[in-house]
Amino acid sequence: MTNSDHKVVLITGCSSGIGLRIAVTLAKDEKKRYHVIATMRDLRKKDKLVEAAGDAYGKTLTLLPLDVCSDESVKSCINSIKDRHIDILINNAGVGLLGPVESISIEEMKKVFETNFFGVVRMIKEVMPDMKKRRSGHIVVMSSVMGLQGVVFNDVYTASKFAMEGFCESMAVQLMKFNVRLSMIEPGPVHTEFETKMMDDVAKMEYPGADADTVRYFKDVYLPSSIDIFEAMGQTPEDIANCTKKVIE
Ligand code: NDP
Repeated sequence: MTNSDHKVVLITGCSSGIGLRIAVTLAKDEKKRYHVIATMRDLRKKDKLVEAAGDAYGKTLTLLPLDVCSDESVKSCINSIKDRHIDILINNAGVGLLGPVESISIEEMKKVFETNFFGVVRMIKEVMPDMKKRRSGHIVVMSSVMGLQGVVFNDVYTASKFAMEGFCESMAVQLMKFNVRLSMIEPGPVHTEFETKMMDDVAKMEYPGADADTVRYFKDVYLPSSIDIFEAMGQTPEDIANCTKKVIE
């Protein structure tokens, strides 16, 4: 299936949105430069990806199960790859969480960190030794503008992306001397299921404990302006996939 000129690219979270589109874009690369290992935690969700990949499925794109929150799943996925050889790792899987901190349990917060922060750490820990040994590799991390700036009622999601940015900036310096690159992509709003879920969450949101001024600011200023920004400047998963392709070229 692979030839020696192909770069092996592993992508996390390919059941929908940005991950799905990156997988398809790279698998359909006109110069056939990539062999894509598209992963998702539940392979029963594979139909959308398989359909979008078309002829590339089974040729330049294969599928593997991978839950970034599970040590066992991460190890078994990487061990199932021939010689554990991955040229490019794209850490895309992520979850959001919206609401006043007073209404969110510590357990719910930990789940966000388990995916957005430890999920990335787990993947990097697993692929890094082989990349360092081969003295080549590229790790890409899907952060967010919210990895650079705090946003009201997005405290925990923002914190998880900030933590990941800090971890990756520190790692990048250490990997550089092994010729392993680490890049971060920080998209603004992108039209995916992530956005749809966020809007559903906003509609159902309650504000126990939050002060009236903050709630008013969130509902009357932040939300309407975010919706305007989304409509005027929201990007598509294709935009982010094309950007990712440029980053790894
Ligand atoms: P989607 O909700 O469409 O996709 C998220 C993907 O992550 C899904 O495939 C989901 O799988 C997967 N995932 C969640 N938890 C795990 C896990 N434990 N193991 C493996 N996969 C998991 O959202 P997007 O495509 O929009 O988001 C992709 C990335 O882009 C995220 O990291 C997000 O933070 C970031 N981002 C998104 C923005 C946006 O506006 N949409 C803006 C900036 C950054 P499943 O189907 O099983 O839930």
